[in-house]
This record gives sequence, structure tokens and C-alpha cells, in this order.
Amino acid sequence: MAAPQRIALVTGGAGGIGAETCRQLARAGHRVLAADLPLAPERQARFDAEMAGHDVAFLPMDVTDEAGCAAAIASARASHGEVDVLVNAAGITRDATLRNMSREQWDQVMSVNLDSAFVLCKLLAEGMAARGFGRIVNISSVNGQTGQFGQTNYAAAKAGLHGFTMALARELARKGVTVNTVSPGYIRTPMTDAMPEAAREQVLAMVPAGRIGEPADVARAVVFLCGDDAGYLTGVNLPVNGGLFISF
Ligand code: NAD
Repeated sequence: MAAPQRIALVTGGAGGIGAETCRQLARAGHRVLAADLPLAPERQARFDAEMAGHDVAFLPMDVTDEAGCAAAIASARASHGEVDVLVNAAGITRDATLRNMSREQWDQVMSVNLDSAFVLCKLLAEGMAARGFGRIVNISSVNGQTGQFGQTNYAAAKAGLHGFTMALARELARKGVTVNTVSPGYIRTPMTDAMPEAAREQVLAMVPAGRIGEPADVARAVVFLCGDDAGYLTGVNLPVNGGLFISF
């Protein structure tokens, strides 16, 4: 019997890693909802062109707006069915040393990078458990494993995602729902394009693979963890960093 088509929701689905994850999930046979902040018309047209030929629908969603997320998911459910796969990829940076970091910079990063995982999982995990199948992948970061200068907020949020993942993995393991993190190193996306050239060169010099990662490198790992046949992999952190941080 052919496996049923799974419905996947990817937050930050219009971003560098998110959009490529949408494409690869669609190629793997999923129907994909790319959830992201509403796009300006020109950007929306570009996104639609990028997704041409793939089963990807755009879903406007602000992950910091809990009621808005609930409404977006209700409308997605009505049009597409129940969500089986959740990829939490929405993320922002608001870098500053602790000395200069405002409460607002701290709160914004926590809200988009960490609280959103709580919000989306609250909305979707129970249904997955009731149906006996689910895949949740939270996109963390190498900087959540090692810390990074000027990123107390981002490193705390990304490390927090690991704790959240490990705890939820235990809660859902008997229900056919896996929960994992993927921790990218330095990946070519608008987020890293915004880094000063000197900082990018400095990081690159530390990557054993000798190159910056591509969104496809990360999406590959996400799709792997989302497979129907990946049911015994849970509570795992899968680093995709070209050897930048090697551990066990
Ligand atoms: P990106 O900036 O291209 O994508 C992030 C996406 O999140 C954007 O499309 C943005 O609109 C969306 N987003 C931001 N706030 C949102 C909100 N309130 N509601 C809904 N969507 C929102 O960056 P990216 O590099 O593709 O990042 C994807 C994920 O990977 C992030 O969680 C990021 O922290 C993580 N990450 C990236 C790198 C890297 O090197 N690029 C490294 C490690 C981890």
C-alpha cells in the first residue's frame, strides 16, 4: 500500500532554509504549507515562481501571534487537511553584546525563535498524537551549542530549543510522533548575507569543509527526519555544519 500523502507546515517557509525545505519536502511527496509573514506583492510573485511545479501553498502567519497562528492553522486544515509534519524554521537575530542589548531585542528573539515552537507544537502535536503519526523538526543553530559573541539572546533561544525538543520527544515517543532538532552551521541565506564580510570570512576559515553551507544541505537533513521511515529517531540533534563544531 502506498504511504499516505503527508501535510507539512514549515514556519519561516519563505526564508532561505525554509523555502528550500518546502521544495525538498514537496519533492519527497508532501503537500507543503509555507507559513511566513505576509509577503509584499513583488516578493510573493518571486516566491510563487520559485515554487512553481511544487505542491507548496503560502500560508500567511506571524509566529509571535498565538491567536493568528490558531486561525491560520484552522483555515489550512479546512483547505488541506490535518498537519502531520511541522518544521519550526522561523528565526531572527538581534545581535548586541549583553551590555548593549535591550529588553526588546531579547524578547523579540525569544518570541520568534523559541516561544514559537511552543505555540506551534501546542496547536499541532496533540492532533498528531491522536492520529498516531507526526514529525516535528525544530531548526536550532550551532550557536546554540557553542554560544556566539553578541548573541546571548539567540544562543539562549537556540539552546532552549534543544531542551524543549528532548522533553517533548519523551512525551510523544509512544504516540508515533518524533521530535528532533537540526542545527545548521553557517548557511548561505539572507540571514548570513547580512553579516559583515570580515565576520563571514573569519567563520569560513574555521569550517573544515572549507565552504559555507547551502540551504539544500540543511533541507536534506530535515526531509530525512520527516520520513515515514524515521520513526525510531527522536530527541536527536542533527548538526549540519561542515565540521565547524564536532561533538558526540
Ligand atoms: P531567513 O532570514 O532567510 O529566514 C527566516 C524566515 O523566518 C524569514 O522568511 C522570515 O520572514 C521568517 N520570520 C521571521 N519572523 C517571523 C514571524 N514572526 N513569523 C513568521 N515568520 C517569521 O533565515 P534562514 O537562514 O533561512 O533561517 C532559517 C532558520 O535557520 C532560523 O531559525 C535560523 O535561526 C536558523 N539558522 C540559520 C543559519 C544560517 O547560517 N543561515 C544558521 C543556523 C541556524
